[in-house]
Amino acid sequence: MSDFTYSVDAEGIATIVWDVPGKSMNVLNLESRDLLESFIDKALADTGVKGVILTSGKKDFAGGMDLNIIAKMKESAGDDPARGLFDGIMKFHALERKIELAGMDFKTKKGAKPIVAALPGTALGIGLEIPLSCHRIFAADNPRARIGFPEILVGIFPGAGGTTRLVRKLGAMAAAPFLLEGKLSEPKKAKAAGIIDEVVAPDELLARAREWVLSATDADLVKPWDAKGYKMPGGTPYHPAGFMTFVGASAMVHAKTMGVFPAARALLSAVYEGALVPFDTALKIEARWFTNILMSPSSSAMIRSLFINKEALEKGANRPSVADQKVSKLGVLGAGMMGAGIAYVAANAGIEVVLIDARQEAADKGKSHAGDILDKGMKRGKVTAEKKAEVLGRINATIDYAALKGCDLVIEAVFEDMGVKAEVTAKAETEISADAVFATNTSTLPITDLAKASKRPEHFIGIHFFSPVEKMLLVEIIKGRKTGDIAVARALDFVRQIRKTPIVVNDARFFYANRCIIPYINEGIRMVGEGVAPVLVENAAKLVGMPLGPLQLVDETSIDLGVKIAKATKLALGDAYPDGAVDEILFAMADQGRLGRKSGSGFYAYDEAGKRTGLWDGLAKAYPVAAAQPGLSEVQHRLLFAQVLEAVRALEEGVLEDIREGDVGAILGWGFAPWSGGPFSWLDMLGAARAVELCDGLAAGHGARFAAPALLRDMAKKGERFYIRFSADAKAA
Ligand code: NAD
Repeated sequence: MSDFTYSVDAEGIATIVWDVPGKSMNVLNLESRDLLESFIDKALADTGVKGVILTSGKKDFAGGMDLNIIAKMKESAGDDPARGLFDGIMKFHALERKIELAGMDFKTKKGAKPIVAALPGTALGIGLEIPLSCHRIFAADNPRARIGFPEILVGIFPGAGGTTRLVRKLGAMAAAPFLLEGKLSEPKKAKAAGIIDEVVAPDELLARAREWVLSATDADLVKPWDAKGYKMPGGTPYHPAGFMTFVGASAMVHAKTMGVFPAARALLSAVYEGALVPFDTALKIEARWFTNILMSPSSSAMIRSLFINKEALEKGANRPSVADQKVSKLGVLGAGMMGAGIAYVAANAGIEVVLIDARQEAADKGKSHAGDILDKGMKRGKVTAEKKAEVLGRINATIDYAALKGCDLVIEAVFEDMGVKAEVTAKAETEISADAVFATNTSTLPITDLAKASKRPEHFIGIHFFSPVEKMLLVEIIKGRKTGDIAVARALDFVRQIRKTPIVVNDARFFYANRCIIPYINEGIRMVGEGVAPVLVENAAKLVGMPLGPLQLVDETSIDLGVKIAKATKLALGDAYPDGAVDEILFAMADQGRLGRKSGSGFYAYDEAGKRTGLWDGLAKAYPVAAAQPGLSEVQHRLLFAQVLEAVRALEEGVLEDIREGDVGAILGWGFAPWSGGPFSWLDMLGAARAVELCDGLAAGHGARFAAPALLRDMAKKGERFYIRFSADAKAA
C-alpha cells in the first residue's frame, strides 16, 4: 500500500490516485513526493499515455504538507540546515515544474501532455500548490470543501510554488487575501476568484477531467507565465498600477502585523522580488525566502504551538484513559451572555441542550441569541434555513429543572456568586443521574470551594469559556481537588465535540489565562500612573504583537469588572496585595462612570456610534505625562514579563502541568504575541540567563513582582530551555 497509485486505461489516460493508507486526510511527505514524481516521469515517458488525471481516493484532495518534513530537510545537509531546506524545497519546485511543462518543447511550445487535477474536496497548502502547476483544475461542487493556503496562520507561507503561481495567476492584489490572510474558499468562490478553473457535479468530476484531457490543444497546455508576452495581472512593481499595489500592500502588511510576523514580511519580499524576474528565478527567490522563514525561531515556535501542539491537545494529549465520554444532552444553567453562547455552540455541534434561567423570558432571550448568530450566518450565505431550524430545535429554553433529566453534562453560568451557584448546583443534582458531570463556568471562584455544594465532588469540574463563546477558540478545564478522571475526560470530549481547543489546569486563583492577563492590564495602568505616555504603553504592546494594548483591553472587558476583581483579590490577599497604585486609577475611572466601551468612555474616548476616537485626553490631566519617558523596549519588557512570569509561576506551582498548554492557551486565550509561540517559547528564544538578567533589572527598577522565579534561575544556571527540561512530548514535572 503506497500513498499514490498509478493506472492507465484503454484510452491511454493515466490516473494517479492519492490515498494515504490509514489516514482520513492526504498529506505529502518526502517519500510520497518522490513516488509522485516517479509516476509523472512514467506517464511522460510512456508513448501510450495521452494525459494524466491527478485525483484523490478520499473525500478530500489533501490537507497539506506533513510538517515533520521540515526537520528532516534541515537534518539532510548535516551542519548546514539552511542548505538542506533550500535543496529540499527546490525538489518540490522541480516536481511541479515538471508537471507544468509536461515534456513541452519550450521553443515551439508543443509536445506537452495534459495533466489535470481533479479535486473531490478540500485542497490546502501543498494540496493546492501541486494542482496550481497542473494545466487545469477541476473541483467537485462540494460546499464543505475548503480551498486555499492556511500557512500564514501558523507562521509560514506557501513556499512550494504557491506564492509565485497564485500571484502570477491572479495578480498581487487579488492574491493578497489568500496568501496574507490564509483565506479559504469553497469551490465556487475559489473559481470566482480565479484560483481553480471548473466546478462540476461530484459524480462527473473524473468524466469532465477526462474529456478535457482528450480534447486539450497545445495552446491549452502553456501556462500564461510560459507564454510569450505574459504580463502579470495588475502589473509588476515598476508598472504604474503595480507600483501602487506594492506600496499599498507593504503599508497594509506592516499596519496589520506591526512588523512582528516574519512570515508576512518574507512572503511580501518573495512576491515583490519574484515579480521582477523570470518565472524560474522567481521560484528560486520564493525558496530562499521560505528557507529564511523555516530557519527563523519565530516560525518554528508558531508551528510547534499553533499546529503540532494545538492538534495534540485537541486529540486528547492530556486526557485520562477512560472510555468515550461524548455528551449527547447538555444542561446549561443561566441564559445570560455566557450561558447563551455555550448553548449555541453545543446545539450547533449536534448536542441536545436544555437552557435554564430563573425566568422564562430570560431563558427565551438566551435562545434568541443563538437565533441571532444563525441569522448572521444566513446573511453571509454560510447557514441555510434548515440548519437554523435544526440548531434552534435542539435548544429547549425553560425554567423547569426536571428537563435536565438525561443530561450527561450540566454547565452552570449563573451570577458570579457562591450562594447562587451552590443553590443551582443542588437543584440540578436532584434531577440528573449519579454519573452525570456538573461543571461551573466561573472565572474567579475556586472550583474546590464550589464543589462543596455538590454531592459528588469527583464529578464536579470547571469548564471556563472565554467571551464571546462562539468566537473564542480556547476552553480552560479546571480540576478541583477532588475532581476525578471521568469528569476530566467528559469535559475534554465535550470540548472536542464543539471543536475548540482545551487546556487542563489545576485550581488556583484565576486559573491560568486570567492569572496572566490581569498583571498585563495592571502593568499598563500602573505605567499611566507613573507618567508614562498612555500612547507609548498602547503602541509598545501592539509593536510586540499583543492584539490589544492593556488600556484598550480593560475598556473592552469593562472597568467595573476590573474594580470587582481588584476588591475580591485585595480581600483574599490582605497585606500582600500588590496593586494599590493600579486601583487608585481604576477606581477613579469607575467613580467617574468611565466604565469602558460599554459606557462609551474609559481610557479611550468613543463617539456616539461607540467607535474609539483616541485615548481620553482627560487622562493626561489626571496623570501628567513625565518629561523623561522610558525606552520602547523597557515598556515592552514590563508588559511581557508581567505575563510570562505568571505563566512560569503557574508551572512552578503545578497549576499548569504541561508547557504546551501554557503556550497554546496563551495565544488562543488572550492573544499573547503569537509570533513568539507563547510565553515558554518566548523565554526559550530569549534564553533563561538573559531572561533572569532582564528580570533583575526590572525588579530593581520597578519592584519585586518582576523577581525571577526560582525555576527560571535554576534553568539559567544549568543553561536549560523549557522545551528540553519539560520535553514537548512528556508532561511537565
Ligand atoms: P450574566 O449576568 O450575563 O448571566 C447570568 C444569568 O444567570 C442571567 O441570565 C441570570 O438571570 C441567570 N441566573 C441567575 N441566577 C439564576 C438562578 N438561580 N437560576 C437560573 N438562572 C439564574 O453573566 P455572564 O457574563 O453570562 O456570566 C455567567 C458566569 O460566567 C459567571 O460565573 C461569570 O463569572 C462567568 N464568566 C463570564 C465571562 C464573561 O466574559 N462575561 C467569561 C468567563 C466566565
